[in-house]
Amino acid sequence: MMNWRVWTILVNWGLVGVAAPVSETAVEVEVTPLAHGVWLHKSWQDAGEWGRVSSNGLIVREGDHLVVIDTAWGAEPSLLLLDWIDRELGLPVNRLIVTHFHNDRLGGWEVFAERGARVIASKRTLELAEVEPTDAFDLYELNSGETMMSGSMEISYPGPAHAEDNVVVWLAATKLLAGGCAVRAAESNGMGNVADATISEWANAMRRVQHTFPETERVLPGHGAIGDFEMIQHTIDLAEEAAKSPGD
Ligand SMILES: [Zn+2]
Repeated sequence: MMNWRVWTILVNWGLVGVAAPVSETAVEVEVTPLAHGVWLHKSWQDAGEWGRVSSNGLIVREGDHLVVIDTAWGAEPSLLLLDWIDRELGLPVNRLIVTHFHNDRLGGWEVFAERGARVIASKRTLELAEVEPTDAFDLYELNSGETMMSGSMEISYPGPAHAEDNVVVWLAATKLLAGGCAVRAAESNGMGNVADATISEWANAMRRVQHTFPETERVLPGHGAIGDFEMIQHTIDLAEEAAKSPGD
């Protein structure tokens, strides 16, 4: 499989109105094709106790334009990603779909908005992120178990899990589910960052995902390797285990 890797040293980061001093940060974004018209984008950040962590999102071709599911992790990687898209794919990004309020999903939304993308997010996501809605946002509200279409994609709110507002996105054409951080990769044996999690509801949320998208063949977790539908059951098992040992 072809693989593009972009290494860039950004100096004097002063774009998108971020009042940042001169910085010299190595920013890395990796893009890998997953299926016809679907690419995985991967970026990295230093995540405190977790060390250097990678984060997954998607680029999806929808006719004559693209949709990005989740930003790269922060403004700088997001800018790098959009530059790569301009250069290599040459199609406009019409929408950014954000799967919850943390920085690995929403950080860098301004860069997308400045380039003309609509930002699709739940009202709750903006509240939790304490971001004032601007003209760039198309906000929605879903109750647990509800879904809505966004172009060719289906956004589903399974209820609180990793975060109160986490949603998953279903790509029917490729039977691929973007699970975001509500889904734990096959290789992970814990719940990850649970600062905003609802451990007691997590397994129920994943059962709704199983029930809503039974045709799923591949699942992309927020972090870690892409895998199959079994990843949802794996997450249920981990969540039930975690729910039994609170305070762990
Ligand atoms: Zn995450």
